[in-house]
Amino acid sequence: AVPVAIVSGLSRAARHSILIKGGKAIEALARVNSLVLDKTGTLTDGRAKVVAVNVSDGADPDEVLRLAASLDQASKHIIAQTIVAEAQGRLLKLAVPSDVVETPGEGVRGVVEGRSIAVGGIQFVMSKLPQGTENRLQAKKVAGAVIVAVAIDGHFAGEIRLADELRSGTQLLLQRLRMLGVQRIVLATGDRSEVADAIAAGLGIDAVRSGLTPDQKVLVVLSERKNGPVMMIGDGVNDAPSLAAADVGVAMGARGAAASAEAADVVILVDHLDRILPAMQIARRSRFIAL
Ligand code: ADP
Ligand code: MG
Repeated sequence: AVPVAIVSGLSRAARHSILIKGGKAIEALARVNSLVLDKTGTLTDGRAKVVAVNVSDGADPDEVLRLAASLDQASKHIIAQTIVAEAQGRLLKLAVPSDVVETPGEGVRGVVEGRSIAVGGIQFVMSKLPQGTENRLQAKKVAGAVIVAVAIDGHFAGEIRLADELRSGTQLLLQRLRMLGVQRIVLATGDRSEVADAIAAGLGIDAVRSGLTPDQKVLVVLSERKNGPVMMIGDGVNDAPSLAAADVGVAMGARGAAASAEAADVVILVDHLDRILPAMQIARRSRFIAL
């Protein structure tokens, strides 16, 4: 039988819009040693804004954005949603993509109006281009800017720059989590190290791991598990495997991917990362009473 204290803990969490999937999750939540955090959509707001569309010589920025957004309609990535919204805001007429293949957390490729398009991280897009293709825009790196590269018909067409901000109050939130017993905090992101380091600066994060595939995020979680129970918080499809690998997987459920909510033990149903605090407080109290 499930102890009454656990049941009342689950219902108290529900009142804070936190779904805890059972007694085991609540117990693990009370014993967290390391926290592994995703960046885009978890530490950051994820409602990134397009700040620039830089294109190769002669190309039309709106046309590059239109083709990229047409393809990104097929992606559930939150950055893809932002790109689609930007194109719609510019009243660009989007086309329906076909032959779409998505590599979660890296990018998508497919066909738009008979043209072969790739959209995603720089490495992903460059890997779809002939060897030796040079990306002259990449030289102008800017710390903190999320960069989405676009290829059209085997040529590097340009890049879309987005600014994604840290959720407000994050620094205080991490301090409070430490007071609740979290010993180590690690940032694990699919994004580039320049962006990850800029976001992590000043947060007192113990380690930053960037440029990770979904499988490499799993390895980060497994290596942290050597030190004790691990909580992983993420939002994307690319976080589903690492959420499942953690002792407690926590999904940002309000705008995150359904696959991550399914893989998680705890789902925060509103778009507020700081709900992790009442979740841990309730878990610790329930466990104490149940003992
Ligand atoms: P995090 O792991 O921090 O949540 P992601 O792995 O979700 O970050 O995203 C990292 C990068 O992947 C983004 O900055 C973007 O360049 C790229 N990316 C992945 N999928 C897409 C997509 N469908 N459309 C555009 N960019 C994408
Ligand atoms: Mg994410």
